[in-house]
Amino acid sequence: MFKALLILTLLTSLSFSKMFQSVPPQDAKLLQKGKTKLYCPNCGMNLVKFYKTSHALKENTNTLQYCSLHCLVDANQHTDLIKAKVVDAKTLKFINAHDAYYVIGSKKAGTMSMNSKYAFLSKEDALKFQKANGGKIYNFHQAVDIAYRDLAKDNKMINKKRKMASKKGAMIFDKMCKTANRPAFHSYAAAKEYVLHSGSCAKLKDRQAQAIAIYLVKKSVPNLSNAIKVPSDAKCQICGMFVSKYPKWAAKITTKENKTYFFDGNRDMFKFYLNSKENLDKILVTDYYNIIAIPAEKAWYVIGSNVYGPMGNELVSFSSKADAMSFKKDHFATEVLNFKSVTPAIIEKL
Ligand SMILES: [Zn+2]
Ligand SMILES: [Zn+2]
Repeated sequence: MFKALLILTLLTSLSFSKMFQSVPPQDAKLLQKGKTKLYCPNCGMNLVKFYKTSHALKENTNTLQYCSLHCLVDANQHTDLIKAKVVDAKTLKFINAHDAYYVIGSKKAGTMSMNSKYAFLSKEDALKFQKANGGKIYNFHQAVDIAYRDLAKDNKMINKKRKMASKKGAMIFDKMCKTANRPAFHSYAAAKEYVLHSGSCAKLKDRQAQAIAIYLVKKSVPNLSNAIKVPSDAKCQICGMFVSKYPKWAAKITTKENKTYFFDGNRDMFKFYLNSKENLDKILVTDYYNIIAIPAEKAWYVIGSNVYGPMGNELVSFSSKADAMSFKKDHFATEVLNFKSVTPAIIEKL
């Protein structure tokens, strides 16, 4: 038994150190705090394991640390990233991303992306790395542009992998965890923290915990049967975008004359509602966590968060005030409002 355990440990540490991104735990600097500080807030991956591609961004008083440029960009779309930090792949110190030389497209594996991206403070180090591994050198601004361009393709690949991991995760969960309690999570990092540290599961390897986390988060994604039904050709009354692509953000207004208007976010819905001279009958918005249609007058709206809708800044709606409050905390938002307190001035400022 003891011998088997030893071999197992050796195998895991081998696979850990075989990865170019990994560093010994004592060499990894964690800039974020709290129970989930070891995990990327966007994907749940271990930040020591993917240290050499880590990025960080300060949010109000908090710093969030991401496993990769992909996750930084994915989680902060339409956000100014000029103050982001990145690990210098050579010295392992965090540096201002703005000062970094990025080597993109080298043969060293990327993190969350098929297009690898490593950063260096010294141009000489970047050139040395490029000479050994290929790729091209870019500045941060260009690297962010490339990461944006890679986003759709990379997310497609990631979703494919997640589907497989989720199946594995379900099996491991049934074998290694107390199955009477099968909680649902909104974030991979929170799910992972639960799996590894709540005492509900036996001791797991990082990739096993990751698979279970993916399973538990996926489990919490609801079906759309209670969502606002949006015809596929319906366009937002304000901005003209197709609404059915964004079930999480859909809103709908019906008039007494039975006319219907669709919106790709609450901001556009309020823009219409606050200026409408029509006889309005019913307003529906979407509960962001559960993707169900809820009466707009009873919903709670979170503003100033780091979650963006298809049109940018949004009022994120919830049927439960507790959900709105916890979303506010998780996403560094500024305020939770009820329907009546959403004024034209607030919409204007968003
Ligand atoms: Zn990540
Ligand atoms: Zn719109």
